[in-house]
Amino acid sequence: MHDDRTAGIAGSAESIQILGRRAGIAFALFSGAGAWYLQTSAWQWAVALASVHALYNLALCHRKAAPDIRELLVSVALCAGFTLAQAVYSDILYHLLLLRMAMWVGRKRAGRVAAVVAAAQLIATAAVTVSFTADIVVRMLYNLLGAALVTYAAVYIDALIARQADGDRHMLDLIRQNDRNYRMAFTDSLTGLYNHRAYKEKIDSLPQCVLLIIDIDHFKRLNDTHGHLIGDKVLMALGNIIMLSIRSGDLAFRYGGEEFVVILPGTTAQNGLKVAERLRQKVAECEFAGGTVPIRITVSLGVAMKKPGMSSQAVFEQADRALYRAKQLGRNNVQFPIAEPALKYGM
Ligand code: GH3
Ligand code: MG
Ligand code: MG
Repeated sequence: MHDDRTAGIAGSAESIQILGRRAGIAFALFSGAGAWYLQTSAWQWAVALASVHALYNLALCHRKAAPDIRELLVSVALCAGFTLAQAVYSDILYHLLLLRMAMWVGRKRAGRVAAVVAAAQLIATAAVTVSFTADIVVRMLYNLLGAALVTYAAVYIDALIARQADGDRHMLDLIRQNDRNYRMAFTDSLTGLYNHRAYKEKIDSLPQCVLLIIDIDHFKRLNDTHGHLIGDKVLMALGNIIMLSIRSGDLAFRYGGEEFVVILPGTTAQNGLKVAERLRQKVAECEFAGGTVPIRITVSLGVAMKKPGMSSQAVFEQADRALYRAKQLGRNNVQFPIAEPALKYGM
């Protein structure tokens, strides 16, 4: 009945079943022990039934078995047996069983289960009744009322659990949606890299790192020659090349248009230059498929080092100036700010 419930809620329903079975064991043993102590007429039967009841329910608890029709029938028979053996105070066993079984079958079929359990109780009581005194009739009515109340409680608890499940599911959906929105807000939809906003957050948070600005050379011409769709495919492919060229701690961003940025935390300027040069070479060697003819592109890179106390804007400006120089020097090369040791690669 609870197949479609979330695991947590299925857990609540399951723990109620286990609790009900344990309580049943306790009350059955109490009834058996009471019959023995009071030496009622069929106390041996009561003790035997209590033992069978306890063992049967212990096995079910151990197996964490879900309730089923067989358990319902066996348990009803055991309860009726208690009544027939005139065990003391066995009425609560019917009600515990009814509570669990009504929860198991759910609201729509709880009435049927209540009818089966209550009928068994009435028939067993009637079978051992010598004369229907007012006392007996009142007791029967009392038990019927108890059965109705227990059924109502079971249906109510079941509805509460279902509502809680809906609430949990809704909450989970919200958390997932929130997570998706958060990731989308920081992801570039074309390349799947981090976007400009993510770059701003990251660079501000790092006191020291190497910054690479990568700009495709003559990209406008590529668009004009092959069309914007092919241009988009080249941007996506370049995004992949960048991702494959950096280490796991490094971060790649699409800064905007045909400009990409890479942040290399915890490395030296020298190493940053090596990464930039390797990337430049990789792009230059690559043939981009997807159009009518294979396309080759080149990139120019500006590299700068962010040092403690330096603003994000200052490091970006340095890298951007280096990139500008790379363009002026003929493109397809890597440049470092001029104040730093003059290192030039490529060309
Ligand atoms: P340079 O070598 O000096 O960088 O020349 P360039 O043509 O690459 O630079 P420019 O800034 O003149 O042109 C950039 C081009 O990038 C213009 C624009 O059409 C193209 N572009 C920007 N964003 C996208 C995009 O998302 N998809 C495509 N296909 N093209 C884009
Ligand atoms: Mg360009
Ligand atoms: Mg540009």
